[in-house]
Amino acid sequence: MKYIIVTGGVMSGLGKGITAASIGRNLKNMGHRVTAIKIDPYINIDAGTMSPFQHGEVFVLKDGGEVDLDLGNYERFLDTELTREHNITTGKVYQSVISKERRGEYLGKTVQIIPHITNEIKERIRTVAEESGAEICLVEVGGTVGDIESMPFLEAVRQMHREEKQNDIVFVHVTLVPIDSQGDQKTKPTQHSVRDLRQLGLTPDVIVSRCKEPLLKSTRSKISLFCDVLERSVISAHDAGDIYEVPILMENEGLTEHMMNLLDIVAKGNDRSWY
Ligand code: ADP
Repeated sequence: MKYIIVTGGVMSGLGKGITAASIGRNLKNMGHRVTAIKIDPYINIDAGTMSPFQHGEVFVLKDGGEVDLDLGNYERFLDTELTREHNITTGKVYQSVISKERRGEYLGKTVQIIPHITNEIKERIRTVAEESGAEICLVEVGGTVGDIESMPFLEAVRQMHREEKQNDIVFVHVTLVPIDSQGDQKTKPTQHSVRDLRQLGLTPDVIVSRCKEPLLKSTRSKISLFCDVLERSVISAHDAGDIYEVPILMENEGLTEHMMNLLDIVAKGNDRSWY
């Protein structure tokens, strides 16, 4: 199984979900079987009890699972149907660990975030990925790097990085490149969020920069230099007129080929009909 872990920095609502769904669509066009998991670091078991004013409309899956709208994007972009297991929340993870503790499954051990919560997270990700029949599993870690709520999930994917083979897990970090009053693209928020990520032991393989206009060559070079990634790993995710244009935008940035290189896989087809 290949994993693509998508994290986000600077602020929420940047486009992690659209980025992950677009990467998945492009790999699917290359003939690969792709699925997706959305991690929501809130304590609610699911989105069913949450006000739509806070998180947008609830998306209902075929098994009745009430989840975040991102799962709807995954179903539409990947042309697939997901189940409630594809949405992992802090609430679900803790509920399961606490039930196991009550059943005595931890054999008298002190139940802790590391390793019990992180093991539960890893097991859920791997089980859902394997049972989906996919070859590639996208895992979007909701929230922003640095949030206290996301910590156990980021620690779990850090451990996965050590446990999986080198080309089986790739990290994509989505950040913001704002424009200052002089009209210049600013890389400092990206630098800071990559530093936050590194403090947690994670190194991005790809940085997707959300910006108003396409990234300038100089901005790309600066992000590459300061964040220690290849220049071709810096992807311009400028504002698209329509979210369905984002996959072609990423394709034009060379991200699909780069991603296949990082995952050490080759194209099994080239279906352009979705664009
Ligand atoms: P996150 O998962 O980071 O919270 P989403 O993927 O849900 O963010 O995207 C947030 C909003 O940003 C969505 O409404 C989406 O329409 C918009 N968006 C994302 N990427 C782009 C893009 N490249 N161009 C224009 N709008 C985008």
